[in-house]
Amino acid sequence: MPSTTSRKVEQSRRLQERAASLIPGGVNSPVRGFASVGGDPPFIVRGKGSHIFDADENEYIDYVGSWGPLILGHAAPDVLDAIVSAACNGTSFGASTPAEADLAELVISAFPHVQKIRFVSSGTEATMSAIRLARAYTKRKYIVKFEGCYHGHSDALLVKAGSGVATLGIPGSAGVPEEFTQFTLALPFNNVKAVEYAFQKFKHQIACVIVEPVVGNMGCVPAADDYLVALRLITEREKSVLIFDEVMTGFRVAFGGAQELYNIRPDITTMGKIIGGGLPVGAYGGPSEIMNLVAPLGPMYQAGTLSGNPLAMAAGCATLRHLRDHKQEIYSRIDKLSGELVEGVASAAKEAGVALCYNRVGSMFTWFFTPGPVTDWDSASKSNTEAFGKFFRAMLDSGIYLPPSQYEAAFLGTTHTAEDIRQTIAAAKQAFAAMRR
Ligand SMILES: *Cc1c(COP(=O)(O)O)cnc(C)c1O
Repeated sequence: MPSTTSRKVEQSRRLQERAASLIPGGVNSPVRGFASVGGDPPFIVRGKGSHIFDADENEYIDYVGSWGPLILGHAAPDVLDAIVSAACNGTSFGASTPAEADLAELVISAFPHVQKIRFVSSGTEATMSAIRLARAYTKRKYIVKFEGCYHGHSDALLVKAGSGVATLGIPGSAGVPEEFTQFTLALPFNNVKAVEYAFQKFKHQIACVIVEPVVGNMGCVPAADDYLVALRLITEREKSVLIFDEVMTGFRVAFGGAQELYNIRPDITTMGKIIGGGLPVGAYGGPSEIMNLVAPLGPMYQAGTLSGNPLAMAAGCATLRHLRDHKQEIYSRIDKLSGELVEGVASAAKEAGVALCYNRVGSMFTWFFTPGPVTDWDSASKSNTEAFGKFFRAMLDSGIYLPPSQYEAAFLGTTHTAEDIRQTIAAAKQAFAAMRR
């Protein structure tokens, strides 16, 4: 849908046409498309710190951060150095390298409930493998997930899976036989009774409960007080495995993820995004008792040609070392700046009479175009996505790059400045004024 815009878009339009003739929708992941918001997707050619630049030389303040990984901003010097020096020694061996244990040690030191960890190449692989492991450990078939939570695109998890599928208005995915999801129970988020009921109905049959401890994939939706505690108590009582999918929240909402922030011990943790520092990495880990079931030690098979890739390990190590060495300043600063940004935009909406509410945990947040509150998928889906689309396009034209969907979290990182925040709030004021016209 070409629309009027004040940006230069000629080059991006040309690149989109070319890409669309070669790649479905012109994108290699559906959320990158602008189907739900309209307008021309900018083709990015360069990034530095909190800013990105497109093929028409437009500059944007970036609140996507590659969908979470880039907490240190684009082209962070220490991460770049680490990648370059690793690359000079060869890019992949399919044999063990020292950096794999380096990254394992860094993650484990931040996540005390993880004793052993296995690296894979994406969050999808991490959660898919964690589910297989939970089934191997419990010898049970059923899994519980929550509506609006996204755990990657493996068949069994692609049920009521939040942002990507919801943005396109489809309930699940074609090509997934119902037999493949017959053991997946999708329950409403933030509803303890639904979990109790499932465990009653499927007594001794539920292998695991998998949850985003702060949901990012229906927009940012935190767990209600004591909800995660309840999940822990129930799974413990029922001898079921609790999986925290911290692919987004790990090293984001706190150095030790949501499990540190809320002080809750999951059995298995899945990670991705930040631990790869912008390169493809995922991981799953937990107590040795469970992890020792993984091949070659145990009977649960899982493998990957490029798993533990030296460049990815180097980028991950550099990112986690930087976060560890500046932990105190970083997490309090990005929390404070995010608060100023999120509340600044929300009060601009209020002044303009635009119905909007927000959720924020540290540096992950969403402005929902609904009076709210947004606590689960039902309340999130009441958002006015047309209003969001208008806001999104106006912001883009003012040089603010937000996730192109109402149902995605935005992120702030260490390279965002007070000036970035000021400009973003000013752009939002203009956008809200234009929306009323
Ligand atoms: C991004 C994400 C995934 C999937 O990770 P990919 O690397 O895109 O496969 C899984 N779970 C959560 C919570 C995520 O945010």
